[in-house]
Amino acid sequence: MIDLRSDTVTKPEKKMLDYMFQAKLGDDVFEEDPTVNELQDYAASLFGKESALYCSSGTQTNQIAINLHVNPGGEVICHKDSHVFKYEGGGIAKNSGASTRTVSGDRGRITVDEIENWINPENDVHYPLTQLVSIEDTANRGGGAVYDFNEIVRIRAFCNKMNLPLHLDGARVFNALTENQIDYKTYGKQFDSISICLSKGLGAPVGSLLLGDNDFINRAKRVRKVFGGGMRQAGIIAAGGLFALKNNVNRLTIDHQHAKQLEKALNASSLIKDVIPVETNIVVFELNDHKRTNEYISALENHGILALTFGKGMIRMVTHLDIDQSAIHKTCECIHSIV
Ligand SMILES: *Cc1c(COP(=O)(O)O)cnc(C)c1O
Repeated sequence: MIDLRSDTVTKPEKKMLDYMFQAKLGDDVFEEDPTVNELQDYAASLFGKESALYCSSGTQTNQIAINLHVNPGGEVICHKDSHVFKYEGGGIAKNSGASTRTVSGDRGRITVDEIENWINPENDVHYPLTQLVSIEDTANRGGGAVYDFNEIVRIRAFCNKMNLPLHLDGARVFNALTENQIDYKTYGKQFDSISICLSKGLGAPVGSLLLGDNDFINRAKRVRKVFGGGMRQAGIIAAGGLFALKNNVNRLTIDHQHAKQLEKALNASSLIKDVIPVETNIVVFELNDHKRTNEYISALENHGILALTFGKGMIRMVTHLDIDQSAIHKTCECIHSIV
């Protein structure tokens, strides 16, 4: 099967597995797992942050960050299609008792003007206190769109002015940085907290990291524990993440080229109304006939290709390190053949 449903479906290659088997282990709740410590230090320094915390998933890192930034009754500004709002099981309300001000914006990205519009006046007791801005780069539902770095800088400046923290859901931040070519530390400086996923395009089997300053990460350790995320000899899986960070970032350009090839084939198909312009490894397209979505997915599956329904006539394909050129070639041929 050519599995294009998500970049989370990758399986660890032999070299990564060997590296994992050889990892030095300890009890990470005692902060004694040398591999986890190495991974955390490596990731933090990459983005110029003081500290990092290894967690079980990107949902967990996002939810921990939100829990630390907001109080019950506070409000988070985020995009209406953002993962923190749409795909984390209502966690903002459930875990943190906070509300969301969801805003729209081009392909999953929000602008500083939009944030400025929706920030609540602090001196009017009717309104919840706006306590956090959260953005997603790349934006999943935006078809892997990358933020204009200048907009991020403007958002940062505005947050500074309003004394608001800024969180990055960077599940696919390496895909963004591959395209925008911004220096990691310059980029990292814009955010109070950063969540990065090791198990998406980087190909590790498990884990995400939360990055921030020392005080923030110390407090994050307690929240992680409360959320049931204190892991013991976690180095065995963290090693996969460390291997991924050191070996699988530079190759993301290949995934992006593959996604472009899919975009081209889809744009040439008479069944397809629109493809969201491809910038990274996510391809989201819309069928002319919304009622034929399941039929289209089945037709792909009959050719050994798996894709994901993405709501209202939309379908998503994601390229990753288990998809090679021949798989892309086969998928493009299949797209041409479905009429
Ligand atoms: C995948 C993803 C996450 C985290 O998902 P987990 O499955 O919990 O690791 C967070 N944000 C975005 C945009 C994602 O695509």
